[in-house]
Amino acid sequence: MVILVQTTAQLLAERAKNSKIGFVPTMGNLHQGHISLLERALTEYKTVYFSIFVNPKQFGPNEDFARYPRTLENDISLIDKLTQRFPNSKVVVYSPKDPQEVFPENADQLISVWGLSTELEGKIRPGHFDGVATVVHRLFKLIKPETAYFGLKDYQQYMVIRQMVKDLNMAIKITGMPIIREESGLALSSRNQYLDPEQKNTSIIVSQTLKQIIKKLDGKRDNISKAREIIQEILNDSHWNYLEIRDSETFSLNTTSSNNITILAVYQLGTTRLLDNMQVEIQ
Ligand code: AMP
Repeated sequence: MVILVQTTAQLLAERAKNSKIGFVPTMGNLHQGHISLLERALTEYKTVYFSIFVNPKQFGPNEDFARYPRTLENDISLIDKLTQRFPNSKVVVYSPKDPQEVFPENADQLISVWGLSTELEGKIRPGHFDGVATVVHRLFKLIKPETAYFGLKDYQQYMVIRQMVKDLNMAIKITGMPIIREESGLALSSRNQYLDPEQKNTSIIVSQTLKQIIKKLDGKRDNISKAREIIQEILNDSHWNYLEIRDSETFSLNTTSSNNITILAVYQLGTTRLLDNMQVEIQ
């Protein structure tokens, strides 16, 4: 069963009927990546809350807020299709029509996770992670989930949310879910539809490069400095916004005692930024 609520009053009335729930926050225009989060949530909870909200606070002034694809009807049918496989389940879709539902004038506090939010993706998109943390905090307060599901596709975002929950002692479990990719290796993203056919062909460079670096690393910590030299050469191609190896737990560039590292990348084609990462254990 799928229930659509479009005001916060309706959301709270619905929420009062359920006890422990899982929660999947999204900006909609759903693809298999989002659906994999919902599927996992439905294996763990009978009732799952699923938000579809294009959050104005996480877009910069020259970013794609206005043209971000909004496809509610299609999103609901994808959710409905999945719930057929979970006969006794209920998915409550919270899709506020007006951003004021989420951010009323008297609820304008800003949540900022220091440090993490101003590095890498946060350096290129100043204020982006403050916008993310602020909306997720607000949604957590309204929906009060036991577990919330995030894609590891947005690895830095996942780290920011984990840190926020820890810092604010929020009793919410954060589950990170693997990246869903096209057969070509391209990580699914709502923004992939901005790519023209030629850019789509080029886009495979991102996952191929990440795989190439992982191959060079060969699971050995000692190979990281060599891999970083190779990365410096790759970065001569100015399409890369960044390509970096960081410790998966601390997000530090210091990987001298890392057991697991994440290679994070953004490759830009026109105005479309292809965000991706891969993780690997090292010894
Ligand atoms: P978005 O709608 O882009 O804000 O994404 C909502 C959630 O879906 C976030 O937790 C994303 O990390 C996750 N997500 C987006 N794309 C993928 C993907 N290809 N694989 C797994 N999770 C994803």
